Amino acid sequence: MKLKNKKIMIISPHLDDEIIGCGGLIDKAFRDKAELFIFYITSGKARNIDNNKVDGETKHETRVSELKKISDKWNFKWEILYTEDSIFLKLDTLPQRELIDKIEDKIYSIKPDILLLPFKDSYNQDHRAVFTAAIAALRPIPAKIRQFVPMVLMYDEPYTWSVGDIFKPNIYLDISGFEENKAKMMSYYASQDRQDPFPRSGNNLVRMTRIRGAEIGVMAAEAYTLLRGVIN
Ligand SMILES: [Zn+2]
Repeated sequence: MKLKNKKIMIISPHLDDEIIGCGGLIDKAFRDKAELFIFYITSGKARNIDNNKVDGETKHETRVSELKKISDKWNFKWEILYTEDSIFLKLDTLPQRELIDKIEDKIYSIKPDILLLPFKDSYNQDHRAVFTAAIAALRPIPAKIRQFVPMVLMYDEPYTWSVGDIFKPNIYLDISGFEENKAKMMSYYASQDRQDPFPRSGNNLVRMTRIRGAEIGVMAAEAYTLLRGVIN
């Protein structure tokens, strides 16, 4: 998959999912000078479970200031759809219709060549709500009426809890030699960065790229599931 001259859009339920699932792609897009837009769906105040306690709290403003450092360094554009504390981690309570319309409008204003969605069977209720809304937003409509998104991918996540479907990758990005950048990007989200054995620790994200790499015979890779692809 060549990223050069491509317009890429990532739909990220929260500020950090884009790094956890697509950090390698964001890093490669930056090196290849691809155009990248990240559409965050919600950010707000949340209870924080860090390495020592369960009673911490992270504010929206903290996460946005962390995001600004990442977007400045990796040179991408972004927007956050909902910043109200009352919606954060409650996307499952919004009418899907509202989420579908907002995601649909954004996709067709950006007109991406490659669009990436969160994992459909995440245990996180926001991730599942975003995935199902995005699928409806991407329903087939004649291309003469609305530009068709030719490649739709679903990105990996380390939150293995196999009560639903497990992630089945079938398309990979070789990031050998650059895998440590994923941990580096995650460290910018200081409020979200965790140590082992948290699934989203920088070390675990790098370990996952090595496991995915072995699946395609390289040292490190990021994995996705192809949901739709058009060959021209
Ligand atoms: Zn999330």
